[in-house]
Amino acid sequence: MSSSSLRRTGPRVFSVLRGAAGVAPRRRIVDLSYSAHFMDFHGSSIPGSMKKLLVTRLSHDFREAVVLQAAAPVPTPGDGDLLVRNRFVGINASDINYSAGRYDPSVKLPFDVGFEGVGEVVGLGLSASAHHTVGEAVAYFSDGAFAEYTVVPSKKAVSVPAAKPEFLSLLLSGATAYVALKRLGDLAPGDTVLVTAAAGGTGQFAVQFAKRAGCHVIGTCSSDEKAGFLKTIGCDRPINYVAEDLGQTLRREYPSGVDVVYESVGGAVFDVAVNALANKGRLIVIGFISGYRSLSGIPSIRGGTLPVKLLQKSASVRGFFLPHFLHDYQDALGSMMEMLARGKLVCEVDRGEMAPEGSFVGLESVFRAVEHMYAGKNLGKVVVEVAPPAVASSKL
Ligand code: NAP
Repeated sequence: MSSSSLRRTGPRVFSVLRGAAGVAPRRRIVDLSYSAHFMDFHGSSIPGSMKKLLVTRLSHDFREAVVLQAAAPVPTPGDGDLLVRNRFVGINASDINYSAGRYDPSVKLPFDVGFEGVGEVVGLGLSASAHHTVGEAVAYFSDGAFAEYTVVPSKKAVSVPAAKPEFLSLLLSGATAYVALKRLGDLAPGDTVLVTAAAGGTGQFAVQFAKRAGCHVIGTCSSDEKAGFLKTIGCDRPINYVAEDLGQTLRREYPSGVDVVYESVGGAVFDVAVNALANKGRLIVIGFISGYRSLSGIPSIRGGTLPVKLLQKSASVRGFFLPHFLHDYQDALGSMMEMLARGKLVCEVDRGEMAPEGSFVGLESVFRAVEHMYAGKNLGKVVVEVAPPAVASSKL
């Protein structure tokens, strides 16, 4: 996820199609390296400039760190790349870690931001044309998504039936839950699984995958509306921690403890989860959002007593970071796409319909969308609809 992957090398040779996607044969290969303009699949010129977000100052305060560039050059794809016109981009808790430079402390300003998007291929390099075609809908997990057009290495793009936000939610949020539980959860039917931030982007998937594995699922959230949603996706015991004390509820209702925790809040919630572990319990550290808005980015925990608590229960704490598990990625996406197609997976997306200033449309909305998430208001995966300017019709 480094911004350096956007620096392209090699010949700038593009495959260009005219006419409807998937209908027109590839006419020719042209070298357009001399021009910022080239043809899209409707036969019209892609604009030379676009809107995009850029980190100009390192800060976990997204508004402080990031500026909207109104007329950035539209990038040109390299040989193995796609140029994707983004329809939706995904908001992630870690967008503010990224803008704070926590992913790569040596990163040079300014740099692009945004982890994932879904849209249509509007241009591609020669090698990339072996696997993708102009007009195809793709979702991707790659750098620089907060832009109207993004260059994506073709190996990081996945074909999807349509440029819809539900597919976007699988790329990072869904895959994290799928792979983490599969690789580190050791789930067995009858296990008790606690999911924190359960009604959010990745939590909703962890609830469903744990349930599919035959587990009893507990999910934390901050409102009755979210608790109601959790019931609809199979959560056996939603806990609205604003209305009831999490630690007390777990001690009272689960005296033998929980077998697995999918934990993404950190701090005091991590401490409660450690205390709630059953013998041989596994706590998977997915994140610690409660600390991301602090200077260090790390919430404090009762670390001094952790070894003794783990020893007394033969329990373990395991870290999980999706980029370390890319071998499992294709399998995860394939399975999730199949579940979705069969109506066996709910991908709840939050487009900001309930946000005070309305739906998240246009890149300007990314700022509000990040704040919506950090206010704990989101239900499901937060997405922003990107509306690129209409392309002018002209011939090459
Ligand atoms: P999200 O769950 O859609 O949204 C964040 C949710 O966290 C909020 O809606 C809120 O729900 C809850 N929350 C609890 N305490 C909070 C606090 N102090 N401040 C803000 N929110 C709080 O976000 P996401 O992008 O899917 O990320 C969730 C977690 O997963 C993060 O820790 C993220 O870093 C992690 N993650 C890790 C990986 C990985 O590879 N390890 C990949 C993806 C995500 P309630 O108000 O209902 O509690």
